[in-house]
Amino acid sequence: MRVVDDVADFVIVGTGAGGATAARVLAGAGRDVLMLEEGPLLRTADRPAEVLDAMALAFRDFATATTRGSYPMPMLQGRCVGGATAINSGIIWRLPEDVRAQWIAEHGLGRLVERRALDDAFEQIERELEVTETSEALYGGNAERMAEACRVMGLPGKAMSRNAARCKGSARCLQGCPGEARQSMDVSYIPRSQRDGARLLTLARIDRVIMEWGRAVGVEGVLVDAETRRPVAQLRVMAREAVIVSASAVQTPVILRRSGLRGLVGERFQAHPGCAVVGRFDEPVTMSRGATQGYEVPLRDRRLKLETLALPPELLAPRLPGAGAVWQQRLTEMDHYAQWSFICRTEAHGRVRPSLFGGGSGAAVHFSPTASDMERVRYGIGLLCRMMFAAGAREVFPGIGGLPSVIGGVDEIDAIERSPLRPQQLNMVASHLFGTACAGGDPRASVVDADLAVRDVQGLYVMDASVFPTNLGVNPQHSIMALTWVAASRLANRALRRAAAA
Ligand SMILES: Cc1cc2nc3c(=O)[nH]c(=O)nc-3n(C[C@H](O)[C@H](O)[C@H](O)COP(=O)(O)OP(=O)(O)OC[C@H]3O[C@@H](n4cnc5c(N)ncnc54)[C@H](O)[C@@H]3O)c2cc1C
Repeated sequence: MRVVDDVADFVIVGTGAGGATAARVLAGAGRDVLMLEEGPLLRTADRPAEVLDAMALAFRDFATATTRGSYPMPMLQGRCVGGATAINSGIIWRLPEDVRAQWIAEHGLGRLVERRALDDAFEQIERELEVTETSEALYGGNAERMAEACRVMGLPGKAMSRNAARCKGSARCLQGCPGEARQSMDVSYIPRSQRDGARLLTLARIDRVIMEWGRAVGVEGVLVDAETRRPVAQLRVMAREAVIVSASAVQTPVILRRSGLRGLVGERFQAHPGCAVVGRFDEPVTMSRGATQGYEVPLRDRRLKLETLALPPELLAPRLPGAGAVWQQRLTEMDHYAQWSFICRTEAHGRVRPSLFGGGSGAAVHFSPTASDMERVRYGIGLLCRMMFAAGAREVFPGIGGLPSVIGGVDEIDAIERSPLRPQQLNMVASHLFGTACAGGDPRASVVDADLAVRDVQGLYVMDASVFPTNLGVNPQHSIMALTWVAASRLANRALRRAAAA
């Protein structure tokens, strides 16, 4: 097989929230950067409007990878330039203050989340990625109804902040923003890094980090064919300064373990599983107009965050209950459905290991929600059902196997709230994944230190969601970018000082 060799000062594996931000900072500081990305570069014009075709191009394994454990839970991951930011809804949340305090007190991360540096990073990212609050004009029927439910029930609902100031409300975040309003990494930090001199190699799947005498000196893997994904060349890229692994909370530990690292690598996998409830209204809701996600209700004490979530009809149809003529009738009412979801800050910890049989991605992910997690999930479903009725829904589809698939009034919600709930009864999905190369001050309880440097290996860093020692309870991309910004800035400064001293 053909062999491709390359070299750069900083070699970055993965171009999602972490990898692209690292490239933005290092290239912006004049450093020589090469980004290696397993997926393709999808230009907006190439991204199909049909959601299944779009998912086939941009999602890892067509979104079929699931956790193992008490319940096979689908994990949504991006595999394209921009990673999951290229398929997400652009929701922006700063690191919650209680999480910051916990990371300092319990995980010794005062240096990483030092207030001044972190706030500066948040502010700069917000300016550069055009973060703004979703205007009421972009709510659409889905968010308008959730806002109405919050008014009636006295819940603390609010417009979401998103990195999409120029959003036109076409409800197509999942397929790729048609107007490039959402400032995902593929349209923001990656082209910006390239203008600053960084290079990007796509369809480059990295298998391992090359170590020599306790130092990371490069990476090796394969170049793959865009269609078949079969290897077409061997790839070996050397790093003069450092290797930065930013391949996501699932793929980063696989690369590190294949490189010979052990200990806590792959341990403490965490997630924010989510569930959705659908309501039918007399008046059209028209989910196809408005922000894909525009309105939210943070309930931190409940470890839940409720969100509007517009789906295209082809994804909503399988969620509709009934069969035969009943189901066909429901399809004719497609415009009358609202869908709301929640993410749950679960307490369960799982594990990621490399696997030949890991659903095509080479990763086996073990994760089982705890009984307390399931209590929270049950509360969330009950609350969303109540909110649907408060907003005027005629019927609500709670989506719980073994319980009535259609409920016609608030009095029927008690049955959900009283019945024991097992994960197998639900359609939970996880798109926020964390914690498999934890950062921390204690070498016995962490994989990377407060500079995101891998312990006991020179020149190796992890900059992505894997470094989070806990989950957040809010959408994570902004925190991933800001932590990366802080750590990559320090790395750039150290490299500059070394260059000046040489
Ligand atoms: C459908 C969906 C919606 C979401 N909505 C939001 C939202 O609105 N707001 C929010 O804050 N968060 C959201 N998230 C979560 C957020 O997008 C992720 O938490 C974040 O992108 C993770 O960043 P990361 O750098 O850890 O990894 P990713 O963004 O997943 O990037 C990892 C990159 O590494 C590449 N890679 C992996 N393995 C290799 C390899 N071996 N060799 C080379 N490259 C490799 C991948 O292809 C990918 O491009 C959403 C996620 C999904 C899936």
